[in-house]
Amino acid sequence: MNSLTLTTEQLQKMIAHVQAHAPLEACGLLAGRGSTVESVLAVANQAQSQVRFVMDPIEQYQAFEWIDSNELDLIGIFHSHPKGPETVSPTDITQAAYAVVQIILAPVENAEMWRARGFWLEADSYREVILQII
Ligand SMILES: [Zn+2]
Repeated sequence: MNSLTLTTEQLQKMIAHVQAHAPLEACGLLAGRGSTVESVLAVANQAQSQVRFVMDPIEQYQAFEWIDSNELDLIGIFHSHPKGPETVSPTDITQAAYAVVQIILAPVENAEMWRARGFWLEADSYREVILQII
């Protein structure tokens, strides 16, 4: 996948979620069709860590059920790097469990703003996926 389309409101929902949990990492799922996001589903970070995330298994299961019942697909996973970097980490690459777009949200230096970037992970590398905000 080369690009992912999402709305300003969906982006703001992700940012509000990760900002509320900073300096801990926060995470969630993106449901949609093809390369278009239809819904942002926040999931608790069971790890309660500043440097990694583990999705709460019950919330993750409930989110998957919701996605199925709405006839959508899992098309993305987002999580924050409250202390950077704004790219995927080696841990993200080794722990990726689903072949979906990974969105990393990292704060812009000295600002109350977060930047979102999309990535597609390969076995031992990654490439950028363009986020088209509409
Ligand atoms: Zn990460």
